[in-house]
Amino acid sequence: MSRSVLVTGGNRGIGLAVARAFARDGDKVAVTHRGVEPPEGLAGCRCDVTSADDVDRAVTEVETLHGAVEVLVANAGITRDKLFLRMTEEDLEAVLDTNLKGTFRVTRRVVPGMLKARRGRIVFVSSSVGLRGERGQSNYAASKAALIGLARSLAWELGPRGITVNVVAPGLTDTDMTAILPEQRIRDMCAETPLQRMAAPEEIAEVIRFLASPAASYLTGAVIPVDGGASMGH
Ligand code: NDP
Repeated sequence: MSRSVLVTGGNRGIGLAVARAFARDGDKVAVTHRGVEPPEGLAGCRCDVTSADDVDRAVTEVETLHGAVEVLVANAGITRDKLFLRMTEEDLEAVLDTNLKGTFRVTRRVVPGMLKARRGRIVFVSSSVGLRGERGQSNYAASKAALIGLARSLAWELGPRGITVNVVAPGLTDTDMTAILPEQRIRDMCAETPLQRMAAPEEIAEVIRFLASPAASYLTGAVIPVDGGASMGH
């Protein structure tokens, strides 16, 4: 089984670990990037998910290279952290445009191919922050919580056609996104986590790989926290 897999933001961080996990399984993996090319062995296509034209061009490229997308991992995401009263409309828009609308655009572009094949796996990368909220991350939390509503609506719509849609909600994970946090903040967050440490990107990737595997054939509309217990399953 060698499937056509697309991972947005798969050139680094969690996305890269996901792409590598699928590639190890023998799948044909394409990743989007905006400039920093992915490592050798992964097909990269330039794509900014805030542009519908970019998304269309990138998915067309993947279809030509590997065939219609059978597994989509919508992972591209950004933060723009600020306390609520300092947060501008632009901070809100930038985060929603990438995290929520970007996921919407890519999913809308690949779903027709999945409908035609009458099968497909879609996984959205949300965040434990979308479940429990976080100081200074109201825009990000809103965007990540919205992905759950989007996924569950699609699970209803697409389930009858053999397509599953699930969400992973990672906790603090060791990537560029968290490298900018002060050390004390990371220590505090780990102290509030039963497993007392950050996740490695590979630990998130393994759960995503499972959700796209035959073992998860009866799973859809689920939100799986992969956060060392920080949100206690919620
Ligand atoms: P990184 O900052 O390491 O990587 C982010 C990825 O998203 C990059 O590949 C980046 O591409 C891509 N990206 C960002 N904006 C766009 C855009 N407009 N169009 C296309 N690609 C874009 O982050 P992580 O690997 O940590 O995060 C991956 C996902 O996991 C995100 O959705 C994040 O919110 C989520 N997450 C992360 C957690 C963590 O602690 N790290 C915890 C919970 C969730 P480029 O290289 O071009 O910038």
